[in-house]
Parts: sequence; C-alpha cells; structure tokens
Amino acid sequence: HSKAAGRNAVRFFDPAMQARVVQRATLQRELRHGLRDGELLLFGQPIVDVRAQVCGHEALLRWRHPVRGMVPPAEFIPVAEQTGLILPIGQWVLREACRVLARWAADPARAGWTLAVNLSARQLRQPDFVDSVRQALHAAGADPRRLKLELTESLLLHDVEDTIAKMEALAGLGIQFALDDFGTGYSSLSYLKRLPLTQLKIDRSFVRDLLTDPNDAAIVCTILQLAQSLEMEVVAEGVETAEQFEVLRAMGCRLFQGYHFGRPAPLEPAQPLGETPTGFGVTIIGAAPPA
Ligand code: C2E
Ligand code: MG
Ligand code: MG
Ligand code: MG
Repeated sequence: HSKAAGRNAVRFFDPAMQARVVQRATLQRELRHGLRDGELLLFGQPIVDVRAQVCGHEALLRWRHPVRGMVPPAEFIPVAEQTGLILPIGQWVLREACRVLARWAADPARAGWTLAVNLSARQLRQPDFVDSVRQALHAAGADPRRLKLELTESLLLHDVEDTIAKMEALAGLGIQFALDDFGTGYSSLSYLKRLPLTQLKIDRSFVRDLLTDPNDAAIVCTILQLAQSLEMEVVAEGVETAEQFEVLRAMGCRLFQGYHFGRPAPLEPAQPLGETPTGFGVTIIGAAPPA
C-alpha cells in the first residue's frame, strides 16, 4: 500500500501527468460547449451487398472543433464516456439518426436503407433507454425496422439480464442489433445465442491481412459459419481493396463496409446551391437547434 501511495505521490507532481489532467478537463469543457453550439455532426459510411449496392449506412460521430478541426471519435468518446457526456451526446446521435431515416424514407432511392448507430455501455444502462429510443423514432416519424443499434461485446458484459430485457423490448419494436468488432472480445457462444442479434460485424483487424495470413482467413471462415448456424447476417468491416472484397465474397460473406466502397462522409447532401455553408466546403447535419 505504501508503495502504491508513494508512486501516486510522485505522480501527483509529475508535470506530464498534470498536463494530461488539464488537457482532459479542457477537452471535456470544450466538448460540452461543442454539443451545445452545434459542433457535433453525423457522418455516414455505406454498407453494401454482394453487388456493391448500398443497402445502408453506419452513422459515425464527428466533432468539428473551431480550432482543432475535425476530431475523430477515438479522441473524444472515451472522455465523453468517463464524464457521462456520452448520454446527451448519444441521445443527440439517436435523434439525428432517426431524422435522417425519416428523410430517406421519402426518397424512393433510399427508402430501404438502414442506418446503424453505435451505442455506449452507459446509454444501455440508463433505465429509460428503451423509452428514449422509442421517443426519438416517434419524434422523427422514422421506421424502427430501418434502425440498427451496434453494440460491442464488452458492452454486453454488464448486467446481462437487464441488457437482454432492453434488447428484447427494442427488438419488439422492429429494431435490429449488430455486434460490432466481432472476434476481438470475449463472447461465449451460448451467450450469443441468447441475445436478439441480427448481425455480426467482423472486426477489420481480421480483414486487413485476410489475403496473407491463413489464421485470419480461418477466423473469418469460422465467423461466417457461426453466423450461418445462428441465422445472423455478417458484415465484413474495413474492406479496402477489390481483392479483399472478392475473397470475402467467395467465402460467403454478403455484406461489406470499408474504404473500398466509401469513406465516412457527411450524411446529408449539400444544401441547395446558393446557401453557402459556414466556412467549410460541405454542408453537414449539425447539432444546432432548429431555427
Ligand atoms: P466502429 O463502430 O467499429 O466504426 C468503424 C470505424 O472504422 C470508423 O472509424 C470507420 O471510419 C473506420 N473504417 C471504416 N472502413 C475502414 C477501412 O476500410 N479501413 C480503416 N482503416 N478504417 C475503416 P471512426 O469513424 O473513427 O469511429 C471509430 C469508433 O468510434 C467506432 O468504431 C465506434 O466504436 C466509435 N463511434 C463512432 N461514432 C459513435 C457514436 O455515435 N457513438 C458511440 N458511442 N461511439 C461511436
Ligand atoms: Mg460500429
Ligand atoms: Mg466496428
Ligand atoms: Mg471499432
């Protein structure tokens, strides 16, 4: 104990650590203001079928910081999770995603598309989570069958019974669930069967070296077989080349996502010509309150 305390005492005066603490506090404050001031926006990345036709998108959060520029989620979601800010942010993402779905529904070329939203563990642990999703759908007038929720395996480790109950309530509305980054976590197979999942997303680390590493190829094959016997869809994440697409297709994979098909980009088409967006080359869905 004294050793640990001593180490902490030293660390307390460690300037590098102090700098990190200050940095995190700054980020936290700026993120709170960013949410308030409409600096968050939703990008989307296409998910395609075996013919490379778009059948949906994954919503990916971005923060357009006035000074730092576009901040990727890896840099602010961990802070948002630690501080609880992920709750209002996650709510905003859900509502925004539902609005996008409602707009797509009015466009024959997009009416069948699904939109997948990433969830944090803290969101799912909120007692009123099911209600808040229902409200977001209702407020936008979106079809629940077009909404997908992406969960990670680690997220499922908390309070399994409660998680299953919430997932089943949402699945009852028609919402679909995908297990994200599959293969990197600890799911036991019997456990997978108990969850109302419709989709597994093969983590991109297995796709990256698929053509050169027989172990990765074997893992991908195993996931595809597993999904088939559990009657789930599979999305291969991180498909960057035509060769990866071909090999995955030959292995029996039916859905794909990755730079080969499209990078994450603003979910909204640019505003009508003449309305110049503020300072940037594109117009995006912002978190600004409606005028
Ligand atoms: P994810 O859910 O696994 O999302 C896929 C990530 O892979 C995205 O990173 C995407 O840009 C990237 N990606 C897609 N295709 C390729 C490819 O071909 N090659 C490579 N190298 N990367 C590819 P992004 O947008 O930086 O998001 C990172 C993570 O942040 C997401 O991983 C997700 O866990 C989290 N995230 C994003 N948006 C949200 C959100 O609204 N809420 C929560 N809770 N988490 C989010
Ligand atoms: Mg995801
Ligand atoms: Mg993923
Ligand atoms: Mg990931």
